[in-house]
Amino acid sequence: MQELKITVCGACGRMGRETVITVDREENLRLAGAVDIKNEGEDIGLLVQNVPANVKVSSSLEEVLAAEKMDVVIDFTGPFTVMRNVETALKNGVPPVVGTTGLTELDLKQVEEWTQKYSTGAIVAPNFALGAILMMKFARLASRYFSRAEIIELHHDRKIDAPSGTALKTLDLIRAGKREGEFPPYSPAGATRELEKLPGARGGAVDGIHLHSIRLPGLVAHQEVIFGGEGQTLTLRHDSFDRGSFMPGLIMAVKRAPSVKGLIYGMENLIEF
Ligand code: NAD
Repeated sequence: MQELKITVCGACGRMGRETVITVDREENLRLAGAVDIKNEGEDIGLLVQNVPANVKVSSSLEEVLAAEKMDVVIDFTGPFTVMRNVETALKNGVPPVVGTTGLTELDLKQVEEWTQKYSTGAIVAPNFALGAILMMKFARLASRYFSRAEIIELHHDRKIDAPSGTALKTLDLIRAGKREGEFPPYSPAGATRELEKLPGARGGAVDGIHLHSIRLPGLVAHQEVIFGGEGQTLTLRHDSFDRGSFMPGLIMAVKRAPSVKGLIYGMENLIEF
């Protein structure tokens, strides 16, 4: 495989640092650009693992892409920055691999349009952890056989967006599974009438599927999907205990990105199960 030159946006953040270290260790990948509004001008290698990488942190993706032809741009910035970076990458003919969460349906439509306009593919994956992808697959399957389901997602307390991208994706998959299933769509609430004494206590709901977001220090990224039926429950749980859990999936996406056409949304559409 030909060596791929990688730029990491949000390189000084929690996910960005883990990505820089992983890219540096990975055969056939070369860290060639680092973008962040923090630590401008510093060597990213020295910053994240005390070993020079000879790549200076730049605050401008435009400048990094103008200086050197890249093969893939990875984005782990935030919901207010990601779309600008995606457009910049696509405009320059470089496929973006986006891990940043909080993109709306409208954003995804826009990304799809840009991939056509600039004839360059893009991968957007709200969760690179392969265990989490399997959990979503199993949730879709289980939803056909249970009358109700609720989702509880748990993340560290610095996460900006709620609910998580993975929880929203799981919700969509459960709704899709239900349409193929043996039970009619869920009614808006389990009881004929619910009294929510503390607003928000039942979480957010779409089509009667309730979703709860927990934010606490000490957590990384976790999710439970609890299905309830006559006299039984089924609980699916996935835990990412550290950011290393996202790296094998991320690297898989990065290596596929140069050959992708259009927008691929979600790792489940990139890998065979
Ligand atoms: P973080 O706050 O630690 O890092 C974000 C970095 O982006 C910071 O260093 C910040 O300075 C930088 N940044 C912000 N605005 C910028 C701009 N305009 N230009 C350049 N850099 C900018 O956040 P994090 O924990 O690393 O998470 C980043 C994103 O990744 C979040 O959206 C999070 O939900 C998502 N995430 C995705 C996965 C996945 O598997 N897809 C896993 C974990 C986290």
